[in-house]
Amino acid sequence: MRATTSCCCCEALDGRIDRRRLLRSLGIAGLAASLPISARAAEGEYDAMLLSCIDPRMVAPVYKYMEGQGLSGKYSQFCIAGAAIAVVAPKFKAWRPAFWDNTATSLQLHRINKIIAIDHRDCGVARVAYGNDSIANPQVETRTHRAVLEEFREAVAKHHPQLAVVTGLMALDGSIEIFS
Ligand SMILES: [Zn+2]
Repeated sequence: MRATTSCCCCEALDGRIDRRRLLRSLGIAGLAASLPISARAAEGEYDAMLLSCIDPRMVAPVYKYMEGQGLSGKYSQFCIAGAAIAVVAPKFKAWRPAFWDNTATSLQLHRINKIIAIDHRDCGVARVAYGNDSIANPQVETRTHRAVLEEFREAVAKHHPQLAVVTGLMALDGSIEIFS
């Protein structure tokens, strides 16, 4: 009796997984069909690479910003805890090679000409990297990220001088201050 029940559950579970797989494949097929051919190529001319934080609160606002810039489907993305902080803070030195290797790959595959780095307010990674005081109030927080993003722009200029760099600090509501 127990075995039969278990078997039924397995079948029900299998059914759910199959439906999920089906929906996923339909979603991907639908998305690909809606994009122009050039935007679907794995290699080719794309506009930019985005560097952003893994913070779940920032996923939608950052996407919306990129969409507002007319860049949907035209950029690659490197997501890492802290965004530019991960690339310049001594605390995360071991992570850096992954960013630079990824950038070189995106340059090769997508022939990007720009990096857009978006840090964000209330980033827990800033606390880990520079201490609680580094984002104690909005003014200090701005100063911290301004310094981080300046260091980031200098690092890009050193590694890939041909790349343009746009850097910004995004608030949780999606509003952004661009630093250059
Ligand atoms: Zn963050």
